[in-house]
Amino acid sequence: MRTEVLVTGGAGFLGSHLCERLLSDGYEVVCLDNFGSGQRSNINGLLDHSNFTLIDRDIRVPGSLPSVDQIYHLASRASPKDFTDFPVDIALANTQGTRRLLDHARACDARMVFASTSEVYGDPEVHPQPETYTGNVNIRGVRGCYDESKRFGETLTVAYQRKYDVDVRTIRIFNTYGPRMRSDDGRVVPTFVTQALQGKDLTIYGDGEQTRSFCYVDDLVDGLMSLMNTDNLKHDVYNIGKENERTIKELANEVLDLTNTRSEITYEPLPEDDPGRRKPDITRARTELGWEPEIPLREGLKKTIEYYESKSV
Ligand code: NAD
Ligand code: UDP
Repeated sequence: MRTEVLVTGGAGFLGSHLCERLLSDGYEVVCLDNFGSGQRSNINGLLDHSNFTLIDRDIRVPGSLPSVDQIYHLASRASPKDFTDFPVDIALANTQGTRRLLDHARACDARMVFASTSEVYGDPEVHPQPETYTGNVNIRGVRGCYDESKRFGETLTVAYQRKYDVDVRTIRIFNTYGPRMRSDDGRVVPTFVTQALQGKDLTIYGDGEQTRSFCYVDDLVDGLMSLMNTDNLKHDVYNIGKENERTIKELANEVLDLTNTRSEITYEPLPEDDPGRRKPDITRARTELGWEPEIPLREGLKKTIEYYESKSV
């Protein structure tokens, strides 16, 4: 019998890559999305697949959900640009939405993976960040709707596990990039690549000395599926990301180098609470899931640039 999987946020960047991989591996996939930040074009190629079903709905809106074996809860806007415009939607997708899915997982005895984030570490005082670090989050700041709702989403997963024995795992995703991020998404990779291809100057926020570590989407999808499909885990939360820490200035220069553009760099103010450094400690995923990200930044950027070129941004 085919394994049936519900993917919330399945029309988004990560979700659509996950749906595609699941279908090609023979799973039956139900994608639920409200197309808030997702795009129909991300899943157009999947709509005619006999094992693919789309539910066009907000996860917060009551309605029946199919009985499934596995649930990936990815539904949440994730771009800092949206934290100002959609704080309530974001806060509730990760709390109310997570609660609905935990109830559903309990009702149909499904295994669930909750997509959390490196943002639960806030502006970290520990570097690199292991899963045991409890974080430094400004709960009332502009990023709080995202960071703190992911933190409470995690707390709910642990409560359902303890009280109702729901089999739920949490993935803390570090900055991931690749094809299908919206070019106006606001996150740094699609922004820099789009600017470079359009011959516009790359907008570095602050002095560009802040760091991030960038994981290519195919590696991330491998990590998500390893977390879902590994039995007898020692832990219930895993960092997934790549340890290739770069300053934002280095990233900008790499994009300039790969795009052969006349663009230059301009500097704009740093947004409030923008974390200074971020790099995952992935010892746990490496040793317990046997997961290792493989795609070097330069190679991943080339694939991403080809995608945006093909869309002729
Ligand atoms: P995305 O915006 O491309 O995808 C999110 C998807 O969820 C979109 O298709 C959107 O329409 C849908 N969605 C949002 N709120 C919804 C709701 N209330 N009901 C139904 N659908 C809803 O972003 P992404 O980068 O693909 O992120 C996917 C998940 O991974 C998110 O939970 C995000 O927090 C997490 N994450 C991503 C990254 C990253 O670097 N991409 C890093 C950390 C965590
Ligand atoms: N950033 C930037 N210019 C942009 C977009 C983002 O300098 O046009 C910076 C941003 O301030 C942050 C880093 O790039 O320091 C990563 O930003 P992103 O929004 O991609 O992710 P997050 O801050 O959530 O890690």
